Amino acid sequence: MRDNEPLLHISHLVKHFPVRGTWFSRQKKVVHALDDVSLDIYSGEVVALVGESGCGKTTLGRCVLHLIQPSSGQVIFQGTDLGTLDRKSLRQIRAQMQIVFQNPVSSLSPRLTIKASLEEPLRTHSIPQEEWDKRILILLEQVGLGAQHLDRYPHELSGGQCQRVVIARALSLEPRLLVLDEPTSALDVSVQAQIINLFDDLRKQHGLTYLFISHDLGVVEHLSDRIGIMYLGKLVELGSTVEVFENPQHPYTQALLAATPRLGVKEDAPPLAGTVPSPLQPPTGCRFHTRCPLAQSICIQQEPMLRELKPHHRVACHLVN
Ligand code: SF4
Repeated sequence: MRDNEPLLHISHLVKHFPVRGTWFSRQKKVVHALDDVSLDIYSGEVVALVGESGCGKTTLGRCVLHLIQPSSGQVIFQGTDLGTLDRKSLRQIRAQMQIVFQNPVSSLSPRLTIKASLEEPLRTHSIPQEEWDKRILILLEQVGLGAQHLDRYPHELSGGQCQRVVIARALSLEPRLLVLDEPTSALDVSVQAQIINLFDDLRKQHGLTYLFISHDLGVVEHLSDRIGIMYLGKLVELGSTVEVFENPQHPYTQALLAATPRLGVKEDAPPLAGTVPSPLQPPTGCRFHTRCPLAQSICIQQEPMLRELKPHHRVACHLVN
């Protein structure tokens, strides 16, 4: 059952990056990284954001934590509008919302032992020092490591072990929300499944909420409750994981699924042709029209809105009813 109030309310979020003109063209340009994205995430949910590179999902993850400032729109976490907070208040609230990045090795300082890395957030957030050792041992145990790893440096651990340390550090301040930004894509395939299972266990044990960012539908299938499909800065389909996999409606979602073998079965949509257009100059109307096999003239002229087809399943496509 959902609470009435979402844990995280993302409303009409926009992020544009200005780009300087060149010698040949002094005209200022703008990268449309994220355009008018709205999404609610409820406590205990796992919502996955999936799309090709450059679709805006990573920008969205960073805007959610206000690691980068949105151009417009709101991020409301536990009833607090993050855009209204000063730096100190923002740092305090970030204890409740942590991020796990793609590359675990670069997330850890090579000069710090694992123990020192795990002490950092406890020090920053003024946790009494007498609690540190006990908390760190519990954290390591929760992620499948132990006291024997405390005095090691990141280069002495495998990629999977480093990611476990990063996860332990993200959990150290008992957050409610974790933004997982491609947390397994830098790992060996055999280790990816272990880390996904670890996220699943931690979520059940701690009642965590995840915003899981990935380019791979197959990776998020077993962990997520809902999936949002992003294309060129827009959310084009949002629904329960079962619904999106069993009844995908947007031609882009269908093409992504066609490229994702499941249990040896391939969906019968045509594979994606061409490349993602430049976010400096997104196509008019539906941003997918340059690659869509079903595109019609209306698709070039009018932007389709994200509409509810049935409860909890929304799609942005003129041809879907
Ligand atoms: Fe394709 Fe048109 Fe639908 Fe866009 S609106 S996905 S171009 S059919």
